[in-house]
Amino acid sequence: MIFAVANQKGGVGKTTTSVNLAASLAATKRRVLLVDLDPQGNATTGSGLHKNELEHTVLDVLLAEIPAIDAIKTGSGGFDVLPANGDLTAAEIELVDGANKEQRLRQALLPLQSRYDAVVIDCAPSLSMLTLNALVAAESVIIPMQCEYYALEGLAALTQTIERVRDSANPALHIAGILRTMYDPRNTLATDVSAELSSHFGDDVLNTVIPRNVRLAEAPAHGMPALQYDKTARGTMAYLALATELIRRHKRRQKQKEA
Ligand code: ADP
Ligand code: MG
Repeated sequence: MIFAVANQKGGVGKTTTSVNLAASLAATKRRVLLVDLDPQGNATTGSGLHKNELEHTVLDVLLAEIPAIDAIKTGSGGFDVLPANGDLTAAEIELVDGANKEQRLRQALLPLQSRYDAVVIDCAPSLSMLTLNALVAAESVIIPMQCEYYALEGLAALTQTIERVRDSANPALHIAGILRTMYDPRNTLATDVSAELSSHFGDDVLNTVIPRNVRLAEAPAHGMPALQYDKTARGTMAYLALATELIRRHKRRQKQKEA
């Protein structure tokens, strides 16, 4: 399972989802790698690593200077991390003239296939070369979104990008699911947008809903996923449920392929 967590909108819960999904998958005894593909490095710090004390980062890997394994660290959540920091802003420029510039992450992850059961890629808030690398490397895309008025607008650009990648470099790419984040059922706008989402996207909307939960926002300041910070919090439980749902959907898809 290789998931890209993508939405070009910032602040929708991509990093929170990436870190907590990685922790939840690790809790099922799966061997998990979290790839930080955002120069902000929030997934890196949220996993307990100091982003400015790294000898190697995902940038060195994308530039094909070192194998991924040489940059991978173990975080506080029981999973491995291919970390990032501000140096990654250079990737866009440094990769411009490179050969196969959208394939770099895919190629870097190939030798790790037997080492991990699941890979989660946290994307930057843009449809940049970095996000394209994630979409080319991934099997499926998790799209976190907040149920607010403009939420649906950006979705078209993202689904078009997914289709373009499917038509070229990665024909098997599909949507793992649209994930409603920071959800407050008492907010009628949120429930309206949620209903609209379900009627537009049907089964592509995940059943699991992530509630607004302060423990999810606090955990990164302590350098750990919510599962390590407060294992009984509602947000923690929701991300455990998300892992279960994604595993179930993945298995269902495997069966359909075999049939
Ligand atoms: P993105 O990676 O898409 O920019 P983040 O995961 O960084 O989004 O989330 C944006 C902000 O919202 C962060 O401060 C984060 O702690 C907070 N946040 C994310 N999900 C939740 C949630 N379910 N409940 C409360 N706060 C959340
Ligand atoms: Mg983020």
